Amino acid sequence: MEETIFEKIIARKIPANIAYEDDAYIVIHDISPQAPVHVLVIPKRRIATLNDLTPGDTDLVAGIFLVAAKVMKTLGYSDYRTVFNCGPGAQQTVFHLHLHVLAGRKFNWPPG
Ligand code: AMP
Repeated sequence: MEETIFEKIIARKIPANIAYEDDAYIVIHDISPQAPVHVLVIPKRRIATLNDLTPGDTDLVAGIFLVAAKVMKTLGYSDYRTVFNCGPGAQQTVFHLHLHVLAGRKFNWPPG
């Protein structure tokens, strides 16, 4: 399977603005931010979409949210929007699971 852009970032083949990293996750600032703060929480192990999760991924998925909360606390935000785009019809463009975390502006509901 061809490497995703996130795998290239994890392998340091291309640069990124890294907000956090541990053995299982990397958090980068989105290259095209949709809010004053827009980070992506990315599990290092590639899972293409939410549809590809299995029960064995439960801890990994829980960890995405724990990492998101930790990073947002570090960045000074308690109010933020989290989004998983799943599939092209929902505007997923990178097929390597990632949680968008956005903050620093007013958010509307329903989302666009
Ligand atoms: P999605 O469209 O939900 O798959 O989200 C993919 C996100 O990755 C988009 O918000 C892009 O702006 C972002 N992105 C793509 N390439 C890079 C990159 N090299 N560094 C940081 N963010 C990126």
